[in-house]
Amino acid sequence: MHKNLTINRVDSDKTNRVFHHLKGTKPGATIVFFAGIHGNEFAGVNALNSILSQVKHEDICGEIYGVYGNINALKKKKRYLDADLNRLWTTRRLEILKKKKVFNNEELEQKFLFEFINNLLLKNTQPIYFIDLHTTSSKTLPFITINDAMINRKFSSCFNIPVVLGIEEYLEGPLLSYLNTLGYVSLGFESGQHTDPDAIKNCEAFVYLALTNSGNLTSPDD
Ligand SMILES: [Zn+2]
Repeated sequence: MHKNLTINRVDSDKTNRVFHHLKGTKPGATIVFFAGIHGNEFAGVNALNSILSQVKHEDICGEIYGVYGNINALKKKKRYLDADLNRLWTTRRLEILKKKKVFNNEELEQKFLFEFINNLLLKNTQPIYFIDLHTTSSKTLPFITINDAMINRKFSSCFNIPVVLGIEEYLEGPLLSYLNTLGYVSLGFESGQHTDPDAIKNCEAFVYLALTNSGNLTSPDD
């Protein structure tokens, strides 16, 4: 691991929300990792910086994205500034967002994320995997969260990690539920407690496994 990359920092303004974009020479799926949808959760940012700077270009199939969630909250190391960005992804709220002229911080973050997602869905012809990287306030073992859908069950069964099913039943408006209703595989990963160094290690391992399970990363002998 590159030690100097394990720092809780976000290098971005609104124009470079995509902080990693790797494109392989071989065809394959597209995988999108969101990190920092909650601004006090840096494990995903650090894990993506570490893993995606080490993958070899010749081993990549398709496209890999690392995307910041709540940039302003990450800069302030706060979960959110005006509203939880992971509770805004209902059809009703997205309709309101389209007509809005004045935005609070998270509505603006959501607007840019929504644009990124829509542009990706427009131009993309390959299968897409969406992964949302989180940490928890209390100490936990890593676990996956999914909406209860066959496509999610199938992909999450590739990981030897406990799965919490049916997040749509107890959370309103998480990003992953929205993406799942569009028909895409979408997994959340909770890698451990916010400030626990193990949360970064767990997240690195998960990112690597996700890249392998999605077929975005092959060993040169494959
Ligand atoms: Zn979170």
